[in-house]
Amino acid sequence: MTRVDELKKLRVSYLPYGKQMIDEEDIQAVLNVLRGDYLTTGPHINQFEKAMANYVGAKYAVAFSNGTAALHGACFAAGISKGDEVITTPMTFAASANCVLYQGGKVVFADIDPKTYNIDPIEIEKKITGKTKAIIPVDFTGQPAELKEIVDIAKKHSLIVIEDAAHALGATYKDIKIGSISDMTMFSFHPVKHITSGEGGMIVTNSKKYYEKLLQFRSHGITRDADKLQENHGPWYYEMQFLGYNYRMTDIQAALGTSQLEKLDMFVEKRKEIVTKYNEAFQNIRQITTPFQNSEGESSWHLYIIRLNLDELSVGRREIFETLQKQNIGVNVHYIPVHLLPYYQQLDYEKGSLPNAENLYEEIISLPLFPAMTEQDVADVIVAVKRIIEAYAK
Ligand SMILES: *Cc1c(COP(=O)(O)O)cnc(C)c1O
Repeated sequence: MTRVDELKKLRVSYLPYGKQMIDEEDIQAVLNVLRGDYLTTGPHINQFEKAMANYVGAKYAVAFSNGTAALHGACFAAGISKGDEVITTPMTFAASANCVLYQGGKVVFADIDPKTYNIDPIEIEKKITGKTKAIIPVDFTGQPAELKEIVDIAKKHSLIVIEDAAHALGATYKDIKIGSISDMTMFSFHPVKHITSGEGGMIVTNSKKYYEKLLQFRSHGITRDADKLQENHGPWYYEMQFLGYNYRMTDIQAALGTSQLEKLDMFVEKRKEIVTKYNEAFQNIRQITTPFQNSEGESSWHLYIIRLNLDELSVGRREIFETLQKQNIGVNVHYIPVHLLPYYQQLDYEKGSLPNAENLYEEIISLPLFPAMTEQDVADVIVAVKRIIEAYAK
């Protein structure tokens, strides 16, 4: 214990686990919008959508106020409603499951593969019933889920695949960019994600049918499209045809997102460089399992998660976590399995029902990973982790 007490605070400033990287161009892009005519529903929305669709290789893109709203839109477009079941992973942010509940559907969790931490296609098949309507795989940490297997299962059972790629902008699967493989794919532009628009999200799809539904859902269920109107009272006329929401993105956000997208490849490269350093530093430490990478995909590395081998340590995950925090290293845990959250517990999801996710949760720590990290930041994380593991090694 004394060895740990001896660890002086390594850093003066707190290093967060994730953070945006904004440059002068981004700032100018936002200022230009503020000086212009449209703060919302203007030309920058279209521009951002086109640029995203183009980047990921999808036909259509619809911007939303945030990624959660985008997932809600995708569940609506997929026609999920009361009585429908949707299969997703427990090892994700609550929004991947909540979007099903918004539509009155039932969330069915399928356990993860203990190696990749992604949803296990074999577990998906076991959970399919006559009520299953869709699958929501998550490309956890940026590593693509087993999309071929998932798309095959979906085809076999006539299910819709809504991919939560909030972690995976810039990732590839079998050399194809994430964004054109599933029926709909969601990206988030929260500041910890690959690119930011402050808050923001997007659905990309190759389906015109989904595209049109998403557009209308984003704006109250209202359309002015002459082909869709049941009546037409004149040039002012619009119809609200179903209950939608105001989930629109502003032009301020879209201009920032468009400017950020130009730097995405550089951001991903920087993330990969940091990951290489972490892997080299930790791969031979028997108390740590570094992230396993499936050869079929190439991660864009939203998160770097170390898994602790607790049998080789004299303390638990909590002590390691707290000691790193005391060193001003902004560690985190991604995620508390969704079915264990109190809201889901009162919906009768059982503890113990998803052992791979639950076991993983007990042993993981996310280390800081973002493109604006300096070499010193990376070195600090490595030194802190090595010292703490050494101090607590059995
Ligand atoms: C960030 C995130 C979301 C939600 O995105 P917001 O833009 O924050 O609403 C959904 N799923 C996952 C896996 C995420 O990481």
